[in-house]
Amino acid sequence: MRESQSGTAGRNVVVVGTQWGDEGKGKVVDWLTDHAQGVVRFQGGHNAGHTLVIKGVKTALQLIPSGIMRDGVACYIGNGVVVDPSHLLLEIGRLEAIGLDVRSRLFISESCPLILPFHVEVDKAREALRESSGAGKIGTTGKGIGPAYEDKVARRALRVQDLKHPERFAEKLRELLALHNFALAGYLNSTALEFQPIFDMAMLAAEQIKPMMADVGYALHTANRAGANLLFEGAQGTLLDIDHGTYPYVTSSNCVAGNAAAGAGVGPDLLHYILGITKAYTTRVGSGPFPTELPMDEPGTVGHHLSTVGQERGTVTGRPRRCGWLDAAALKRSIIINGVSGLCITKLDVLDGLTEIKVCVGYALHGSRVDILPLDADDIKACVPIYESFPGWTETTFGVTAWDALPLNARRYLERVQSFIGAPIDMVSTGPDRDHTILLRHPYQN
Ligand code: GDP
Repeated sequence: MRESQSGTAGRNVVVVGTQWGDEGKGKVVDWLTDHAQGVVRFQGGHNAGHTLVIKGVKTALQLIPSGIMRDGVACYIGNGVVVDPSHLLLEIGRLEAIGLDVRSRLFISESCPLILPFHVEVDKAREALRESSGAGKIGTTGKGIGPAYEDKVARRALRVQDLKHPERFAEKLRELLALHNFALAGYLNSTALEFQPIFDMAMLAAEQIKPMMADVGYALHTANRAGANLLFEGAQGTLLDIDHGTYPYVTSSNCVAGNAAAGAGVGPDLLHYILGITKAYTTRVGSGPFPTELPMDEPGTVGHHLSTVGQERGTVTGRPRRCGWLDAAALKRSIIINGVSGLCITKLDVLDGLTEIKVCVGYALHGSRVDILPLDADDIKACVPIYESFPGWTETTFGVTAWDALPLNARRYLERVQSFIGAPIDMVSTGPDRDHTILLRHPYQN
């Protein structure tokens, strides 16, 4: 804990995915939220998907921070997030339907760029065009995230704050819509959208969103100085980061821990501990290189085991995730980029029953050995994994809550991963529920 003028300031934890997303961040964030008074999203949009299982009941969250599942925890959507107003209200409605108080605890940055219907159309039309032209899809979720970020960077986005000013909103919308309609009708083989339905939808949403608008950066700073512990909740994963991922098969935002500061509006000195979430194997949704990928169709194969036992289907898209062995050489890069303080290994239980477990510790690339994931997607495609092999275990690890209760071979596997990547394993997740967790070092208590 650090001292502030008003007493003891809170401690803050950043949770990031170290692979291609879907590492199980939602569960870990939910678990950690016991120790936080505020949970913050800082990038991405409703292309994220966290599945939480609380007392056997599943809830999927896309835009709203996972802290919403805990009474009294404040939830913040930082400026780095792109917000689809219709989706936001839909998600709020779903949570209210299960009895949660959302509106009094949700604070949305006025600076968030908006995702509007033409972004969705452009996103879908582009993917279709890429596919038909033979260029190959990026594998986006088709929710308009990328086009909305493009408008932000081009300095023409409509932002949450514009919802407060109907005339200003209308003027900016007319201009932006004209631009996107030009692309939709003239280039993307799609159809132009009309102004009025978009404007009406936005103004209707505005009435509901206005009470939740906030100066999120300042609110976080103030809460933290008053003693609140904060949790910064990353979406997607490091290897999908727009700069550091397998470009161009990436998402449109920075998913790395450093962006928690810029995307929430706080200084980097408030990021005290970085928790990297790592699945005990690797998965990837959508296109792009994936060196340790395994075939999944054949029952009895490891790929089929990971896919079925791990229930590897996308929360948002329902698409089957591609599955493969743990890529520790890729992980090495993630650890460095994020400045990971400690790791949480998730879904260890999915490896139960495999006779052999492999970990990729480097690659053969154009006749040389490399120890870390290359930066160029074409190089990554050409990488042939170099594996270390471990004996598996027959015992179940499902729901195990103590390190010593893990099978010896599971501990050996984790210890080797830890020494190879050079970051401590501070937590292990052994099942989807809050209680299925082994704690070795508490991110909030160091
Ligand atoms: P996120 O986007 O990183 O939060 O990941 P997802 O929610 O898309 O995927 C994680 C899935 O795995 C969810 O269905 C979780 O309930 C589940 N899950 C999380 N941790 C564990 C675990 O340790 N074991 C098992 N079997 N499932 C887990």
